[in-house]
Amino acid sequence: LVSRKKKPEDTIVEVNGVRIGDGSQSFIIGPCAVESYEQTAAVAEQAVKQGVKILRGGAFKPRTSPYDFQGLGLEGLKILRKVGDEYGLAIISEIVNPADIETALDYVDIIQIGARNMQNFELLKAAGAVRKPVLLKRGLAATIDEFINAAEYIISQGNDQIILCERGIRTYERATRNTLDISAVPILKQETHLPVFVDVTHSTGRRDLLVPTAKAALAIGADGVMAEVHPDPAVALSDSAQQMDFDQFDQFIKELKPLVKVN
Ligand code: PEP
Ligand code: MN
Repeated sequence: LVSRKKKPEDTIVEVNGVRIGDGSQSFIIGPCAVESYEQTAAVAEQAVKQGVKILRGGAFKPRTSPYDFQGLGLEGLKILRKVGDEYGLAIISEIVNPADIETALDYVDIIQIGARNMQNFELLKAAGAVRKPVLLKRGLAATIDEFINAAEYIISQGNDQIILCERGIRTYERATRNTLDISAVPILKQETHLPVFVDVTHSTGRRDLLVPTAKAALAIGADGVMAEVHPDPAVALSDSAQQMDFDQFDQFIKELKPLVKVN
């Protein structure tokens, strides 16, 4: 059970020496999509330079339009693993098909379940049946209760290594891509024993809001922040408007590092 009433102690998800949920705070950084070995390795180099230990990158991209770049698939996972091994980074990547969960075990350190699949119950059960950490994103318009129940599907199969990720929800507001529900963080921390991350890239969809929202996430008690970084966002095959380039990433870390709790 994910309820804190059933288990008062915090669950700690340990990857690559990072103890997510132990009171310290960390970053998950990387491109929206894996586009090539060179692109992924370039971001990994910057991540290492900034002390980041977990690299993200989409291989199976759940795109709104079927005509948009769908990701490199298995080839993308292979690139991520190679880059992760070369740079000493843990790898997180989204899996969209229950049949790919087993395959993913060979390539990723954390399985990501995306917003569009938060209520893909077969996917949740498949992720619950393996022994690999899972980062579960809040659904596009999911209530906190639905979000907690989705995590329950994973833990019900025996996998308690779950990180919850607030990534904004659909509201009437169009100034941001989604509306970051910052109060979900303390609510999820109170209601569950699981670590909670905030994805500032997909919640805001705005590069100029990444620093202030990340500050808010750290201040309100999130266990970490996810953000997208690309060597040249202007030519990115997805989420070109919101990924940071290396200078912006450098600035981002400079502004946030002093606020990060370390254990
Ligand atoms: C992502 O992190 O790559 C992604 C697609 O995000 P979300 O599922 O939150 O939209
Ligand atoms: Mn993206």
